[in-house]
Amino acid sequence: MALLLRTGNLIVGDGRALKDVEVLIEEDVIVDVGSDLDRPADCEVLDYSDRVVMPGLVDAHLHVCYDGVTLDPAAVRALDDEFMAIRGARLVEGLLDFGITTVADAGARGKVSFAVKQAFEKGIIKGPRVLVSGRMITITGGRDPGSGCLEADGTDAVRKAVREEIARGVDFIKLAGTGAISSAHTESMSAQFDEEELRVATYEAHKVGKPTHSHAYGDLGIKNTVLAGVDVLVHGHPLNRENLELMKQMGTIYMPTIVTYYESVLHHDEGELPAHMIRKEKEVFPLIKKGVQDAVKGGIEIAVGTDTGLPYTLYGKAPAEEMSLLAEYGGMSAMEAIVAGTRNAAKSLRVDSRIGTVEPGKSADIVVLDSGIDPLEDIKVLQQKDSFSMVVLKGKPVVER
Ligand SMILES: [Zn+2]
Repeated sequence: MALLLRTGNLIVGDGRALKDVEVLIEEDVIVDVGSDLDRPADCEVLDYSDRVVMPGLVDAHLHVCYDGVTLDPAAVRALDDEFMAIRGARLVEGLLDFGITTVADAGARGKVSFAVKQAFEKGIIKGPRVLVSGRMITITGGRDPGSGCLEADGTDAVRKAVREEIARGVDFIKLAGTGAISSAHTESMSAQFDEEELRVATYEAHKVGKPTHSHAYGDLGIKNTVLAGVDVLVHGHPLNRENLELMKQMGTIYMPTIVTYYESVLHHDEGELPAHMIRKEKEVFPLIKKGVQDAVKGGIEIAVGTDTGLPYTLYGKAPAEEMSLLAEYGGMSAMEAIVAGTRNAAKSLRVDSRIGTVEPGKSADIVVLDSGIDPLEDIKVLQQKDSFSMVVLKGKPVVER
């Protein structure tokens, strides 16, 4: 079946906006974009010539095992994988309402993220496209016991760990370059994998066309990540001058995940979060703005990832909120922030040849905004689900209001 969307302003996702164009969709693919398109006889025409139309949003970093409201890590660890999978599917399902058509799980226990992905792919539940990294790979003791990471030490073991995750069918590889805010016994700024281990992991992943993402804080961990040729630096605070220059040379994509700190810091006084997390977030939060601003000015490609599922980062508006924060903290224009949450997020997962922009040959993942709603005037409108009058995923309207 063919579908023709008439648009008032089409935000392509690559920085361009096209006035009064049509988008022709056949089956699940965008086949043409332009004026007065030739269309098949049985084509359904939807007239949105008074509306802004844009690509579906992409969140390139969330965690389906977590719900954002269970704050005690011990309570999370006590949950069964099966329960996490069912809950994760329900949580991710709701993201379509927020115009989110693709998400990536950046580290899950067992096969939880695979189960969520399958539930949508098999059509048992209607939900966004899901990409998975399987288990996060860390050094021995790199995360707290029970967190479900895959431990590996030395280049041979890391090579094997990456191959294991690839054999399980992951879409990308997630590495722990440093300790973490959420882990009780590591410091976020302490380096973990050495440059050589990260390099071997990336080499193995690239052999099968998969990108690597490394979680890293602090000067040394970030430097190891960038020099190793890792595709995406996740978090990356503080981002110093030397590392910024290295990122330019290496072409590293930056995913600062501002929203997760922003939301959590708002709740510090409630006393519900473990003390070590509050301490580490207080350390990191003031460092973010400068690094993100420098990265924007330096022309680094920035991608939206949210860490949705971590304490206080709830399923829903988080990717749009990250775009607003990239504008507010990083000095991006609304258009640049939209590119970060569409094409660049897709690029960070190496799926930008299929998704992230409204162009011929791409999957028809498209959102139509309500009449009078324009994110180029106010990027914050993307945080409200009422702003979306239609969400199309793989050529099919999945939300209509
Ligand atoms: Zn994460």
